[in-house]
Amino acid sequence: MKRISRAEAREKLFLARTYYRPIVLGEDDGPSGSRIAGAFPRCFEAGAPKCLRCGKLLDYFLTIEADVVGPDIANERALSVFACADANCRLESIGLAAEPPSVVAITHQPSPRSVGEPGRRLLRGHLRKERIHERFGSSRVEQSKLGGPPYWIQTSIAGDEKEAQARGLSFLLQINELELDEFTTNAGFWGGEVYLFTRMNPATGLPTLEDGRVAWNYT
Ligand SMILES: [Zn+2]
Repeated sequence: MKRISRAEAREKLFLARTYYRPIVLGEDDGPSGSRIAGAFPRCFEAGAPKCLRCGKLLDYFLTIEADVVGPDIANERALSVFACADANCRLESIGLAAEPPSVVAITHQPSPRSVGEPGRRLLRGHLRKERIHERFGSSRVEQSKLGGPPYWIQTSIAGDEKEAQARGLSFLLQINELELDEFTTNAGFWGGEVYLFTRMNPATGLPTLEDGRVAWNYT
């Protein structure tokens, strides 16, 4: 395969959405960069965020940085996902429209992991061609990937996705918890799929790491 430029790769991932990159678990912890589970980033040491629905402390899930999304999309920012520890409250965030949400994405400056439980690094794989079939209730759901179209477990989400796009949000990535089970149990999830939409840059049509919106589907 001929080597493609970073600009071409971004076009295939986020504009044409004909390709994706797998997101995989690293062998070790990531003290900085994209990572999952373990201690949250140091910038949250002053106070872990609380659930906007029920007021309970949120559990840290993961952080996304330039090493996974690329420097142009990250723009020297990082984004961390937190979820309500209360299972019933989290069920309110199956779609993208929950207001207020119980699973949230917070944009911040890149920040190393705080002292505490180890987690794991998140790494991105090579560009792969999408083979589009049913995107709702699909068997393709069980994967973690950057770009391409989202594959949803719950079929009820189709309207939410269109609405999110109408609000200027763009699908960035999805994370399959079953693949990462051993390391996500301490984040309080059961096993399902986490979808991250973020603000689309109107000048380029590419997602950013700002104004993140998270949906969570369970199997
Ligand atoms: Zn809550």
